[in-house]
Amino acid sequence: MTTAKDKLEQQLALLNQQYLQRLQLELPQLQLQCESLIDNLQWRPLVSQLLANFHTLAGSAGTFGLSELGASAKKLEQQCQAWLQSQQAPSASDIQQFLQLFQLLRQQKQLVVTEFKLPIVNKVSEKNTTLIYLLEDEGETARHLCLTLATFGYQVEWFQQPKQLEIALAKQQPDALIIDIELPGETESGLNFINRLQQDGAHLPLFVLTSHDDFEHYLHAVRSGALGYFVKPLNASALEARLQRMLASRQRDAFRVLIVDDDQLLAQHYALVLENAGLRAEILNDPAEIFAGLRKFHPDVILLDVNMPQCTGPELAQLIRLQDEWLGVPIIYLSSETDSERQLEVLIKAGDDFLTKPISDNALIVAIFARAQRARQLAEVMTKDSLTGLLQHAHIKERLASELVRSLRHQQQVSVVMLDIDHFKKVNDNYGHLTGDQVITSLSNLLKQQLRKSDMIGRYGGEEFLLVLPECPVEKALKIVEKMREAFAQLPFTFDGSKFNCTFSAGIASGLGMEVADQVIEQADQALYQAKSAGRNQVKIFVAG
Ligand code: GH3
Ligand code: MG
Ligand code: MG
Repeated sequence: MTTAKDKLEQQLALLNQQYLQRLQLELPQLQLQCESLIDNLQWRPLVSQLLANFHTLAGSAGTFGLSELGASAKKLEQQCQAWLQSQQAPSASDIQQFLQLFQLLRQQKQLVVTEFKLPIVNKVSEKNTTLIYLLEDEGETARHLCLTLATFGYQVEWFQQPKQLEIALAKQQPDALIIDIELPGETESGLNFINRLQQDGAHLPLFVLTSHDDFEHYLHAVRSGALGYFVKPLNASALEARLQRMLASRQRDAFRVLIVDDDQLLAQHYALVLENAGLRAEILNDPAEIFAGLRKFHPDVILLDVNMPQCTGPELAQLIRLQDEWLGVPIIYLSSETDSERQLEVLIKAGDDFLTKPISDNALIVAIFARAQRARQLAEVMTKDSLTGLLQHAHIKERLASELVRSLRHQQQVSVVMLDIDHFKKVNDNYGHLTGDQVITSLSNLLKQQLRKSDMIGRYGGEEFLLVLPECPVEKALKIVEKMREAFAQLPFTFDGSKFNCTFSAGIASGLGMEVADQVIEQADQALYQAKSAGRNQVKIFVAG
């Protein structure tokens, strides 16, 4: 049976073969170029050309398993450089030595079998439901938690005894495990039970419920692999939020890398290596396509070749930096330029970092991954609200504006929803600001959970949210928002033992053909006002006139 890894290794080996074939054509030509140095008064342009060719060879050969050939090419490149700097024509014996060195290079052409040590990456399955096992002997706590989690669309199975849980675990592994560690009447303590489970190799995301709030218990829980620790009385929405964060980080979109390189084989090699590591890579061979490529692919990182015929890497980087939209995307040069001063000259113009060719596959993955992660974190901090992780006011409006333009192009309605929690002042007054914050977070989590990936959610004001639903007619939006309204109204909240519920009202407007975001928002706001006046806890659609 061939695995995905085998297949990738075959593809990489095929690229190596193609590279070798290319060398069969290139090396004889290179030899002719070298030989034409003999007795040639016009040596300058020739040496410049040789310098460029050996530079390219030095950069690419190592990547295809020909590291010795790459090193020889580097030596020849340096010799060319020295001639150009010395201003003196190379002597006959210089040229003889040069040709001998080139013969050595040609003899190193055999393929060194490359060992592909590609890291194994856990891929998360794309299923719709999230299965949670709950072990809890107290009926009241369990029912409250089950209700909350079910509202968020999780499938929960509740067990009162460790034995039952073990049987279920043997049949199917859940996505997360929530365990009460105080189990009176059981022969084994909850933490010992967990340790035994983890030793069996389960290593499931684990959340601990307990009545102990001391260091020893925290430490024991951490050592047992707990990702969350919740002291009773249980704050179910806080647990849900933690759960969602854990799942989101597992299902994070793959980092996207745009590779700009005129050398097709090299670019394909990098793309394969990065994709195997769980990143997404797109190749751009024509620099003139850069803006279309950026808009289509929205990369987290741009990997840029320095020497390209049509337009150099630094020129392209400067071009990209002319547009504010892509300011946050790191530009990393990948080049055989090892001279740090020349690297600096390039970086001063534009770009963020230099990786030097040849680079090992693992070094490439690590370097790109680290930069992509950092760029995403920064983008998140800059655009997202800190309490809810939703888009901030200005950014959701920006997204709406570009979505409206897109909707015109595709002739697809975009629905805009303005949503506001009812009588929220009373929540703050009765239960305090912190509890109010929890209500806001729970609603934002509910929205994130129930909407599609392509939908956009913003925290428009304190307890006001703006949703942008692309390719969604208002009737469909109404159904979606109604479903969320019902779910939210059922979500149980607790404060000091007393229980309460909250509701929201919403207004929907349609964005087809509208060009001004403010206008659509105003219409959604008017519909919201109608929902409030009609008694709250309802959804209205904007009707003109
Ligand atoms: P209505 O049903 O008409 O919307 O009534 P309301 O009480 O929700 O309306 P209003 O907009 O007057 O009150 C919103 C309150 O939300 C006022 C403000 O103190 C509170 N608030 C705004 N942002 C936050 C926040 O981040 N956390 C908390 N806890 N409260 C907030
Ligand atoms: Mg309100
Ligand atoms: Mg309000």
